[in-house]
Amino acid sequence: MKSHREELWFHVKSRRGFVRITEDVRRAVAKSGVREGLVLVNAMHITASVFVNDDEPGLHEDYERWLEELAPHAPTTRWHHNRTGEDNGDAHLKRQIMGREVVVAITAGELDLGPWEQIFYGEFDGRRRKRVLVKVIGE
Ligand code: ZN
Repeated sequence: MKSHREELWFHVKSRRGFVRITEDVRRAVAKSGVREGLVLVNAMHITASVFVNDDEPGLHEDYERWLEELAPHAPTTRWHHNRTGEDNGDAHLKRQIMGREVVVAITAGELDLGPWEQIFYGEFDGRRRKRVLVKVIGE
């Protein structure tokens, strides 16, 4: 069995944002030489997500509004987690809803995604360097 590990680094300049990473994951799969297998892509931080959905700006605005309705950033006193002195209680909750990781099948050396599926990094507490783990296994 082959395996390949790499990290993708991000520095989202705003508190929240979505970054399409399909091409980065595709490059990691190509580097691995795996033709049949799986790729795991997970955020290595508890205030960021990796998810699969449409690359459509309206949908991304909807996510932003919906997540703010479910877990508003302010007032920061709303969240018990912020008693630690942090202000990212909302970001932990947003991360939970949007998910930690995705697993994508590799078939004939390609990501076996549906026609509209794209892989995204979701940042909920940005303005610092954070990373995503990509682990490819197969043969
Ligand atoms: Zn925190």
